[in-house]
Amino acid sequence: MLQRRTVPWLCALLLGIMGLPASGSDFQHHRYEDMVRVLFAVQSECPYITRIYSIGRSVEGRHLYVLEFSDNPGIHEALEPEFKYVGNMHGNEVLGRELLIKLSQFLCEEYRAGNQRITRLIHDTRIHILPSMNPDGYEVAARQGPELNGYLVGRGNARDIDLNRNFPDLNALMYYYEKTNGRNHHLPLPDNWEHQVEPETLAVIKWMQNYNFILSANLHGGAVVANYPFDRSRDPRIRGRTTYAATPDDKIFRQLARTYSYAHSWMHKGWNCGDFFNEGITNGASWYSLSKGMQDFNYLYTNCFEITLELSCDKFPPESALPREWLGNREALISYLEQVHHGIKGMVYDENNNPISKAEISVAGINHDVTTGVDGDYFRLLLPGTYTMKASAPGYLSSSNTVTVGPAEAIQLNFYLKKAPKQNLKGKHHHGKKNISANKASLKLGPR
Ligand SMILES: [Zn+2]
Repeated sequence: MLQRRTVPWLCALLLGIMGLPASGSDFQHHRYEDMVRVLFAVQSECPYITRIYSIGRSVEGRHLYVLEFSDNPGIHEALEPEFKYVGNMHGNEVLGRELLIKLSQFLCEEYRAGNQRITRLIHDTRIHILPSMNPDGYEVAARQGPELNGYLVGRGNARDIDLNRNFPDLNALMYYYEKTNGRNHHLPLPDNWEHQVEPETLAVIKWMQNYNFILSANLHGGAVVANYPFDRSRDPRIRGRTTYAATPDDKIFRQLARTYSYAHSWMHKGWNCGDFFNEGITNGASWYSLSKGMQDFNYLYTNCFEITLELSCDKFPPESALPREWLGNREALISYLEQVHHGIKGMVYDENNNPISKAEISVAGINHDVTTGVDGDYFRLLLPGTYTMKASAPGYLSSSNTVTVGPAEAIQLNFYLKKAPKQNLKGKHHHGKKNISANKASLKLGPR
């Protein structure tokens, strides 16, 4: 560890090949107060590249603190993607929480040491880390400790609600729209949704509304596998049967999951905790169907692609297991983060170079659009290949372009949209038809 200050360039090399030695002493479980102390300590160690903010409070009033890393903390820079990691959604699944605390310390230390890979990542990405989405559940689990922890104690929040079954169910609406050519992204929330979710869930949904997240992972425990959407099978009536529920972005999700599993020291081997998952990845629904989960919600309600990482057989591993877990996951956590820089990104402008927000970007052959953020920037994760892209916005003529994506950094493709001629504005432009059919469909199905 000491050497890195004298030979910082070596760190970039070491990270990913053999890694820095893990000193055993900093590996411990963190109760709420301890976790908050560490996050603020990281913030004061790296004040110019970090910020701490709270997205709300738990049932028992604990702040849900996020640590942000960026070269301009607190500011979205156009074309710089937003990424998030969420840990400890199930209070008794604690490894993700500890890994994210460790990751925070690591990013700060390596940045200070001049590690080029980490410096570049922080300069090009806005990284948000929520180590614990369920601090109340954690305290219940931690009171029992690693040895005595039961399978379910502390899983839910203080009202014993499972937060990963607590998000608005948008899958049914999506599966209906698929058949009717309805909306394929940013589905509407049910009326009164705020009153139907727990405070922790509400805080996370508001968080998603306030930041244009592009990529995310949600860290769990109880198995070792990278799980990708959809979690909910298309036909919930088939009980006990496992049916693969592919998203239109199935190939990308499989690749994202593989990125984690292969960069992880043992996940990709497949045999873990008495289960076998080929390549260490699985489609959620083909494992078991789950409704109202956070992962599917990200994809159906926002621009964010999220996968669920199951990281340890033991949900509450002993402290002695933490150094090995950190070394097993460290490269995977960084590699996965770097995936946010693949595909195509760019700006959508009007004829006067004003950015257009909420413009829709569609990819021919993939029935899932993404939208531009408030600065008019968009990010479309894609595998290498040639794609026909289209940008459209109400009141403008849509514009198309064909681009080839390579394996390296995201390709930049900007769009300049011309105002639609006046006669086309009366519900006739490309956008109107889609909206009408979406409205009809929602009337038929109801909000929930
Ligand atoms: Zn879990």
